[in-house]
Amino acid sequence: MNAPTAISHLVPESHQREVPAALIDALKSRFGDRCSTAMAVREQHGRDESSFDAPPPAAVIFAESTEDVAAAVKLVSEHAVPVIPFGVGSSLEGHLLAVQGGISIDVSRMNKVLSVNAEDLTVTVQPGVTRKQLNEEIKNTGLFFPIDPGADASIGGMTATRASGTNAVRYGTMRENVLALEVVTASGEVIRTGTRAKKSSAGYDLTRLFIGSEGTLGVVTEVTLRIYPLPEAVSAAICSFPSIEAAVRTVIQTIQLGVPIARVELIDHHTVRMVNAYAKLGLREEAMLLMEFHGSPAGVKEQAETVQEIASEFGGKAFEWASTPEERTRLWTARHNAYFAAVQSRPGCRVISTDTCVPISRLADCLLDSVAEADASGIPYFLVGHVGDGNFHFGYLLDPNAPEERITAEKLNHALVSRALALGGTCTGEHGVGLHKMGFLVDEAGAGAVDMMRTIKRALDPKNIMNPGKIFSL
Ligand SMILES: Cc1cc2nc3c(=O)[nH]c(=O)nc-3n(C[C@H](O)[C@H](O)[C@H](O)COP(=O)(O)OP(=O)(O)OC[C@H]3O[C@@H](n4cnc5c(N)ncnc54)[C@H](O)[C@@H]3O)c2cc1C
Repeated sequence: MNAPTAISHLVPESHQREVPAALIDALKSRFGDRCSTAMAVREQHGRDESSFDAPPPAAVIFAESTEDVAAAVKLVSEHAVPVIPFGVGSSLEGHLLAVQGGISIDVSRMNKVLSVNAEDLTVTVQPGVTRKQLNEEIKNTGLFFPIDPGADASIGGMTATRASGTNAVRYGTMRENVLALEVVTASGEVIRTGTRAKKSSAGYDLTRLFIGSEGTLGVVTEVTLRIYPLPEAVSAAICSFPSIEAAVRTVIQTIQLGVPIARVELIDHHTVRMVNAYAKLGLREEAMLLMEFHGSPAGVKEQAETVQEIASEFGGKAFEWASTPEERTRLWTARHNAYFAAVQSRPGCRVISTDTCVPISRLADCLLDSVAEADASGIPYFLVGHVGDGNFHFGYLLDPNAPEERITAEKLNHALVSRALALGGTCTGEHGVGLHKMGFLVDEAGAGAVDMMRTIKRALDPKNIMNPGKIFSL
């Protein structure tokens, strides 16, 4: 495996492509004040939630329709200038950085729910609709959309990063829940992939090619999603454990027994301490599992009893249950506040987040050694995980004025990814590759597979304008 990735060589100023004044004039003439060159707007669109910096894009287009996106891409393509689609900017791996310069296309104003087909359990939305907005708009249908990254991300961005969240253990990720797309290609053509049918054997699966392509193949302008009936009964619980290992062994056994748990999240004792300080929760400062069960009242009761038995075998104690929405919200506050509580625990810090995911039987092997290494490093961190999927995140809290801390954190991340790959896992369960995980993709997928990705990229984007310099280098 390669040496730990220093991000600075991925964002060299020398790679900036020229954005001709004629292009900016043409964009201003087509979009008027929806083409902004104001520095504050460019800077806001030239970064994400990662801790990396690059020069901002030369201009930002605020698209309001598929025609707007197609017109912008056609104009930009004539000058072979990069195009970076922008949702709400919550990605974590340097996805949005204009490492080769170019134009950002912000689709957040394309935020209409176009149709709800309750009988078929599908919904079609524009890409700027956020996950919370979607659930708010369909709540009176008795249906819901389960994918819930911690941020209120856009459906376009979630499609582009193949996102998931706390519900994925039961409902799957964006890969399982996107049925069809409308996409503006790198040449500015508008194509459709997939249908509203539940399954199809019609040719190459272009829908899945675009899911997770991180804006490198086209701009998603419409998404058809699966939605689900709200469960008849929902019950949530938190439970503290004497060690992370005890919590993790409980999860492994729960999944291996086939309990259809809807959510099972791990928070380590450092993170519980941080959320206690942030939200005055008064929780036991021990490793904790947060769980949720969905189904019929009898099914939920049965699942809950099974998990409670497993947890007590591993020393789980202080089970606290909630079945009303208000009580559930209170129990989940710890998880929802974890990131913000951690950031506030070290004012001014920047976060490097890990995202490994391993087969469930290897979760303890991967996690426990990594916890020992993180503790030995002395760098403050938080640890949370969608552990039912074998996915967990260390967030190393770095002093921006201490470059040695970043080097240590990158070494920890490198060791963690090496361990996950050796155990049959992946360097990124849900955040995507962006810039930060590029060095790991070859180790994970192999040179032949990455070459095939390059061949696809060259065929679909011959001028290399769609979010260039991300996922792999050409
Ligand atoms: C506190 C916090 C918690 C998080 N928790 C999770 C989590 O639990 N699970 C998870 O999966 N992620 C999580 N994330 C990461 C982030 O929310 C997801 O990656 C999300 O999918 C990004 O959506 P966005 O709208 O912010 O996209 P952006 O950040 O705007 O863009 C992300 C990428 O998608 C591309 N893109 C955006 N829109 C389009 C489009 N319409 N067409 C083509 N490409 C497009 C961009 O070019 C970029 O490469 C978390 C982030 C934060 C800050």
